Amino acid sequence: MPSEQELPQPPGPEWETTCRVCGHDDDPEPFWESGWPNEGAICPCCGNEPSMNDVSVIGLREKRGYWLGQGAPWDSPSSRPKNWDILEQVKHIPAEWR
Ligand SMILES: [Zn+2]
Repeated sequence: MPSEQELPQPPGPEWETTCRVCGHDDDPEPFWESGWPNEGAICPCCGNEPSMNDVSVIGLREKRGYWLGQGAPWDSPSSRPKNWDILEQVKHIPAEWR
């Protein structure tokens, strides 16, 4: 009987709806589900698609830095709220991914 340690550990949380790159959290669809990235769930704000690479805070910072350097363009401009406040939004990036 295999012990628990031998089972592969999923790299992510059970449920996560906050974008690790930009902090956007307005989507009922999770970016991470049951410990794995929900491929196909693209962030309407920064355009990040959750992937196995997103478990590295270095990689996330790189994506975020590039996105901000472009002027933080919305991937889906029609989803952008009129009173969007990027500084308010980035506060919602989970502490471990800042
Ligand atoms: Zn995002």
